[in-house]
Amino acid sequence: MWRGGTAARGLLRSGGGGSPRAASGTAAAVVQLRQRLEKELEDIRGAGTWKNERVIASRQGPHLRLAGGGAGILNFCANNYLGLSSHPEVIRAAVEALEKFGAGLSSVRFICGTQSIHKDLEEKIARFHQREDAILYASCFDANAGIFEALLTPEDAVLSDELNHASIIDGIRLCKANKYRYKHMDMQDLEAKLQEAQKHRLRLVATDGAFSMDGDIAPLREICQLAQKYDALVFIDECHATGFLGPNGRGTDELLGVMDKVTIINSTLGKALGGAAGGYTTGPKPLIDLLRQRSRPYLFSNSLPPAVVGCASKALDLLMESNAIAQSMAAKTQRFRSKMTAAGFTISGKDHPICPVMLGDARLAAVMAEDMLNRGIYVIGFSYPVVPKGKARIRVQISAVHSDEDIDRCVEAFTEVGRKHGALP
Ligand code: PLP
Repeated sequence: MWRGGTAARGLLRSGGGGSPRAASGTAAAVVQLRQRLEKELEDIRGAGTWKNERVIASRQGPHLRLAGGGAGILNFCANNYLGLSSHPEVIRAAVEALEKFGAGLSSVRFICGTQSIHKDLEEKIARFHQREDAILYASCFDANAGIFEALLTPEDAVLSDELNHASIIDGIRLCKANKYRYKHMDMQDLEAKLQEAQKHRLRLVATDGAFSMDGDIAPLREICQLAQKYDALVFIDECHATGFLGPNGRGTDELLGVMDKVTIINSTLGKALGGAAGGYTTGPKPLIDLLRQRSRPYLFSNSLPPAVVGCASKALDLLMESNAIAQSMAAKTQRFRSKMTAAGFTISGKDHPICPVMLGDARLAAVMAEDMLNRGIYVIGFSYPVVPKGKARIRVQISAVHSDEDIDRCVEAFTEVGRKHGALP
């Protein structure tokens, strides 16, 4: 529980009894703040949207140990799509980078924070995506927060899918461009908005490549055709695609054959690419050069720690050597989706390792997720306001390191739990 600073605590305590007393000045403000926050927290609990954090006492992987017991839990809710978070070569690369380059830079990039490994990783990211250059950030949230403001002015326009990730929405809020929001993956609506936006100097269409709540993939071919017709640029957030979508895991643009038509990619190093942390923008060199001069989360935040750089760099090496890991994840995704569908469940999306098991009712999603954990399967239920009302679901995420037996155990548990709670006949 939050208790304020030492000075405030002193002011709040009466001499002997230690009971709080309202005082003047700072202390009264602290009491007021505390009351307001406690009411807000109560409202969150009352609305049933409180998020609990389960504590893991082992490495990230397909099998987990939870703090306070619960060993051998099968994990189906991490973004560890390729299982690289605990890959021995990734861990070794992190240790080597830590030993050679130290714990961190104590500096932003342009002052004293650029090491050879940062430059190497940026070059590798650009090569992986077949783009001209790349720039690293502490997270993809930062990459999304930094790009729109640096690139767009009040003369320009940005057109954003209504279900884009919160970080894209926040990044767009920070910029002064004219804002258009089109209906989720609705090409008619996008075209109407592009027509409206013709009066502006530049148009940027911004979309998630793959949407994390539904496991659906943006219609990039159609988006790129419209962009060509209305002279617009295309930006994609590839957090749920980089490393595993497309024949070589390059992402949604590779999967849909439009690598040469998407201008800007933002993505994360914190999911499939080793899972540590970090994000980036990759695209035309003058854009990357401009971001180094103007992008606030880049200019005013510490460099990525060497160990984190080491993880991501090794993950990219592994993916550029072979597409076997990405292919293995695709096969497992197929196994889970087809077995669950045969069992009678509705799985949203198509061919994506995010497999939302659609249940509709929020309570049903919560009790089924709890009961799955009782059977040793860790999955999470999502309901309103994270997803629309009446569209509650349990989101399952497949990883290349799940075995076929893990997948089958998960399907069996879902079938038992679904029958028990009336989700299946
Ligand atoms: N974009 C999307 C689509 C995401 O799902 C996420 C993470 O959840 C982010 C951006 C932020 O990524 P990071 O964790 O690197 O900040």
